[in-house]
Amino acid sequence: MLIKLEELGSTPLVMERKEPIASFPELERIGRTNELTFSDTVDLLLHCSQVGGFVEVCGRLELIVEGICGRCLAPAVMPITSDFTLTYTSDPPGVSDEETGDEIELSAEEMNLISFHGDEIDLATEIQEQIIVALPVKLLCREECQGLCPRCGTDLNQQPCVCEPEVFNSRFDVLKKLKS
Ligand SMILES: [Zn+2]
Ligand SMILES: [Zn+2]
Repeated sequence: MLIKLEELGSTPLVMERKEPIASFPELERIGRTNELTFSDTVDLLLHCSQVGGFVEVCGRLELIVEGICGRCLAPAVMPITSDFTLTYTSDPPGVSDEETGDEIELSAEEMNLISFHGDEIDLATEIQEQIIVALPVKLLCREECQGLCPRCGTDLNQQPCVCEPEVFNSRFDVLKKLKS
């Protein structure tokens, strides 16, 4: 996933592509450890423009994550969409002679700038990062999933269980005993 600066020139470049999931090796590892399956490709729409010494990439990513619902354990399929902006520079600002290379990286990072060298930019690492950030903390079959009852294990999406009234009754009994 390279942007060649000579192709970019002064007119914005629009790139639309289906990037194979294999381009993002870290996702494979996350999928294995969390029992998630990803769609074969990540749909990317990228607007790249060059302003001064900066290259700005405004993008949208879309992919599908499949796994087990974190609440009810049913199969879950979640479409993920995320918008992001990446700003690259070949010339990190605020660098004085005394500063070391490490500090240059830090100051670019602090300003949310990503430094690059040469005449092309590889977007893969940063886009992979954006995908990871966009992944849900908990995969859900649907937003309003009721989950399983923690006491009896009934799938509350299918039917209510009797646990709640029992809890209520026992509290009620206690109150009755206290009163008497
Ligand atoms: Zn669920
Ligand atoms: Zn229950």
